[in-house]
Amino acid sequence: MIMDLHTHTRHSPDAEPDTVAERVAAAKRLGLRYMAVTDHVEINRYYPAAYYHAQETEEFVYDGEAVFRGSAAEAAAAQADCAPLTLLCGVEVGQIPQDPALSAMLYQDPRLDLVIGSVHELPGRPDFYFLDYEKEDIPALITAYFDEVLRLAQTDCYDILAHLTYGLRYLPNRADYDLTPHLPVIDEIFRTVIGKGKAVELNGSNLKAEIPFTDPDVSLIRRYRALGGTYLTLSTDAHATKYLGYRMDVLEQLARDAGFTELTYFRKHRPILVPL
Ligand SMILES: [Zn+2]
Ligand SMILES: [Zn+2]
Repeated sequence: MIMDLHTHTRHSPDAEPDTVAERVAAAKRLGLRYMAVTDHVEINRYYPAAYYHAQETEEFVYDGEAVFRGSAAEAAAAQADCAPLTLLCGVEVGQIPQDPALSAMLYQDPRLDLVIGSVHELPGRPDFYFLDYEKEDIPALITAYFDEVLRLAQTDCYDILAHLTYGLRYLPNRADYDLTPHLPVIDEIFRTVIGKGKAVELNGSNLKAEIPFTDPDVSLIRRYRALGGTYLTLSTDAHATKYLGYRMDVLEQLARDAGFTELTYFRKHRPILVPL
């Protein structure tokens, strides 16, 4: 098993209380070669709630700074002693376009090998997970989502563009949703990522729920490749040790089906290709 570059540990508010050491042991059992620890920092709520004169709720969790402090320290300390596994110190930064200056500062942290850039929510809205889709204008919502992903792609505060189709993940009838009107902006996102030398992620998080979608699906990965995309990462987005590397054989095969013969990981933000 080659890589799992997007995983959450006990430092992420929505993950199981697993330590980095437990993950390293599990990765070795699986024969994983590259694993990144990428706990959640929602950059629009980086400081404690009081800083924003706000209240912490289930939908709005604050203090990404504390998450990052714990996660980066634990991951960086574990890096020295985990051969043959290569452990990468990372972070998943949500909503970069809502605070590019703070995101740029975080990106410079010398411990970081890679930053995953995500859009989990639109400005002023909760995570797509919490939306009541009965009350949404879905095409407008998805249009706004991809526009926000494009704004993310245009920054320099990430190495890997996470789960491109996250905005679709919780749609009640995802299989029936027609992406065709969004293909021009998706192509612009891909061209932007390619032009900046960044990577696209094939995220298999849904597979653990037996939902037959990856984010994005293989047709979009093919499209990325056709536009000249060469940097592709694979991830389970595991929030528990039992999902580390889960269905990675499926993700590797999808990458091959899309024409990829190499995958990419990042060391101190520098892309490194490995044979698939
Ligand atoms: Zn995410
Ligand atoms: Zn994640």
